[in-house]
Amino acid sequence: MFVDTHCHVVMNPKGAEQIVQNFEKDSIDFVVTIGTNVKNSAEAVAFANAHTNVYATVGVYPEYAEENMQQALAQIETLLKEPKVVAIGEIGLDYHTPGYQKQWQQALFRQQLNLAIAYNKTVVIHSREATQDMLTILKEYAPKLKHIVLHCFSGSVESAKEFLRLGCYISFAGPITFKKTNREILHHIPLDRLLIETDSPYLAPEPVRGTVNEPANVKFVAQKIADTLEMPVEKLAQITKENAKRAFGIV
Ligand SMILES: [Zn+2]
Repeated sequence: MFVDTHCHVVMNPKGAEQIVQNFEKDSIDFVVTIGTNVKNSAEAVAFANAHTNVYATVGVYPEYAEENMQQALAQIETLLKEPKVVAIGEIGLDYHTPGYQKQWQQALFRQQLNLAIAYNKTVVIHSREATQDMLTILKEYAPKLKHIVLHCFSGSVESAKEFLRLGCYISFAGPITFKKTNREILHHIPLDRLLIETDSPYLAPEPVRGTVNEPANVKFVAQKIADTLEMPVEKLAQITKENAKRAFGIV
């Protein structure tokens, strides 16, 4: 019933094999496991190749940006030719941790956006404390990109509207379930642009906040969004599954 569009299954301390074995019991139809560097992108691809209900993305996360990334980019380019790879990601900008290298991050991000265009792949975007630069760059690239998925969205209604104008899909993770979160934003996302995810093993949603997260918990994200939008969770699951298939080109 559910689709988890953003998890890191190969990094999960519960064990990737164990998690996938529970998919049927947990009502998970399929997941997209996300790469953050060359090594775990290769692991994500191998794991997806071995499991029908797992797809992969490959990419280098902004915080791993270095001055010269040519070798890593060449390896990402090789990986993204694999048939189970549905996107480049997670890529983007992260200005949260002091000492970040804005120029390196932007260069790496642009190079991976160019790869996505060259191979007609969707992109999965990580954006933290970098909304203005993200909008500036995406405005430039959006017309040439297949689809754009903004993962774990936590921005304002105004910024969501700007991203939506660029055609982005907006994905929500555990934080949308937290007690202090203002869920007003959900009323501003068109239903055909809405995605759900866990970002597991991180960001476990309420009521399991603080535990090791896994795709099964996407049901809590779905339930909270369905309650907020006053629709049955089955309907929300169906809508977000169709959106995920479209966003990632999964048939
Ligand atoms: Zn992630």
